[in-house]
Amino acid sequence: MLNIVIFGAPGSGKGTQSEKLIEKYGLAHISTGDVLRGEIKAGSALGKLAEGYISKGQLVPDEVIIDMLAEVLDSKKDSKGVIFDGFPRTIPQGEALDAMLQERGQAVSAVVSLEVDEAELVDRLLKRGQLSGRSDDNEETIKSRLDVYKNQTSPLKEHYNKQGKLHGIPGMGKIDEIFARITEAIDNVK
Ligand code: AMP
Repeated sequence: MLNIVIFGAPGSGKGTQSEKLIEKYGLAHISTGDVLRGEIKAGSALGKLAEGYISKGQLVPDEVIIDMLAEVLDSKKDSKGVIFDGFPRTIPQGEALDAMLQERGQAVSAVVSLEVDEAELVDRLLKRGQLSGRSDDNEETIKSRLDVYKNQTSPLKEHYNKQGKLHGIPGMGKIDEIFARITEAIDNVK
C-alpha cells in the first residue's frame, strides 16, 4: 500500500498535484475539504456544523474530522493506496492517522510538503476565488487560513520529519516540474 500525505499551505497546489498522482499511481483520493463541501451541499448535520468553521477559515474540530476520516478510509480499503489531501492538519489528527493505519497493518509511506512563498499563496487563492467561487477564497478568510496553517498545521512537519518521512518539495514554477520533483521523492520510497 502506498499511502501519501500531500501537505502544504492553502494554495500550495495540493489538489492539482493530487490529481496527477492519482493518475500516475492509481491511488484513491481523500480530500477532507471536498468531503466537507459535499456534506454542505447535501445539507447534512455534519455540513451545517462544518460550514461555520470553513467560512471563518478555521479548522473543523479534530474529533469530527477524525471520525469522518475513519469512515472514508474504510470505503477505500480495496485500493492500492491513498493520497491524503488536506488531512492531517493538526498533531492530534496526525497521531490518529498513524494509529488508524497501524490498526489496518499499514503506515504513511511518505509526506510530500509543497513549499510556496506566502505572497504567491495569496495571489493563487485570490485567483482561484474568482474562478471557482469558493466562498473561503476571499482576502479575510485567506489570512486566517494561512495563520491556522502556520500555527496548527505546520508543526506536523516535525512530527513526520522525526519519522524520516518528510519530503520538502519546492512548489513554485511549472506544474509538471513540481510533479517531477514529487514523483522522484515517491519513487525513492516505493
Ligand atoms: P481545503 O479544501 O483542504 O482547503 O479545506 C477547506 C476548509 O475545510 C478548511 O479551511 C477547514 O475549515 C476545513 N477542513 C478541511 N480539512 C480539514 C481538516 N483535516 N481538519 C480541520 N478542518 C478541515
